[in-house]
Amino acid sequence: MTDAVNAAERKVLDWLAEQRGTMLALLETLVNTDGGSHDKEGVDKVGAHLRSFMEGQGVACETIPNEQFGDALRATVSGNGAGAVGGNSTIMLLGHRDTVFPKGEPTRRPFRIENGRAYGPGVCDMKAGLVMNAFVLAAFQKHGGAPAPLVGLFTSDEEIGSPACRPLIEAEARRARAVFNSEPGRPGNAVVTGRKGCVFMRLAITGKAAHSGANFGDGISAIEELAHKIIRLHALTDLDRGITLNVGLISGGQTVNTTAPSAEAEVDLRFVKPADYDETIAKVREIVATSYVPGTTSEMTIYGQFLPLVETQSQSLYAHYAACAEAVGDPVTSTFTGGCADSGFAAAMGAPTICAVGPVGGKPHSPEEYLEVDSLVPRAQNLALTIMRMGAN
Ligand SMILES: [Zn+2]
Repeated sequence: MTDAVNAAERKVLDWLAEQRGTMLALLETLVNTDGGSHDKEGVDKVGAHLRSFMEGQGVACETIPNEQFGDALRATVSGNGAGAVGGNSTIMLLGHRDTVFPKGEPTRRPFRIENGRAYGPGVCDMKAGLVMNAFVLAAFQKHGGAPAPLVGLFTSDEEIGSPACRPLIEAEARRARAVFNSEPGRPGNAVVTGRKGCVFMRLAITGKAAHSGANFGDGISAIEELAHKIIRLHALTDLDRGITLNVGLISGGQTVNTTAPSAEAEVDLRFVKPADYDETIAKVREIVATSYVPGTTSEMTIYGQFLPLVETQSQSLYAHYAACAEAVGDPVTSTFTGGCADSGFAAAMGAPTICAVGPVGGKPHSPEEYLEVDSLVPRAQNLALTIMRMGAN
């Protein structure tokens, strides 16, 4: 059952459709602005472009400074009172401004459009989503506010696990009725209703160096210890439960004729259910604490993590979004992914959350990254109608 779009709704959707050219112009500016996660100056410049566009549209913006990474940008549009419900009353639009690319990438591969697809660093992940969020905020500013206050959070460090912005995302999500993360929509016009959580760990093993010919018995091999641990860590994988362990990097040793005094590894754990995190980490710690080669010692540090987006928590918001997309004439599907994103942090605060509501694209983090240009307007309209129809219930 799909309610036809009424005249007031149509006005907002039409305004968004008229902005296609300006959306693409802002997208071009953002793509051509450098902004790897560690390039504070660049990530801030991307924020300045967004801020100047939104302020030009009357959208209130504030900068939340950060010394190490890019500043966070927070934009707000007041509610019109139609959908005021108790404490959790905002609607949050989320997106990250950083990319995974090295400095100078936009000069090497500037924004271009070819056969209906746009290319350039971060074009779908996720500068198109940022443009969409900025225009949706502008649309509500222009047309008398949203049913509930809108908060647009434009973060700076998602690609490295959001060390600086995670607390901001959590604080906003705690008072949100709904969170929409505008990561790229997936082929098949899909949005993401479930994501795995992940943990990145560094393992350091200490042994003892000795000449492997003259004094073999004095040596303690950290590499041998690492080998034992790798086998046991990988054995924790349980594909049926969606738990995977991947030792993705190893290094160690000194020379071929020395027993290895040290060895290191980096390990990626993925999981679906929050409870699987505690259980698996406990098993990992047990493996780390055990010395399979007597005399070795090991230390493990967690240097990055994302929480899962749990599917049961996105179901009713997805149903509402899908009905609105149907009414717009842009029917969507839903999908689960092993990839992680900021939506997991929002969902963990209890906020109904859906992800990948941004314009559709593919091949992120690669030179072939592309955006389907024709998805820019419909995805903005889907989000806008979804917001307009978030009344008091
Ligand atoms: Zn992304």
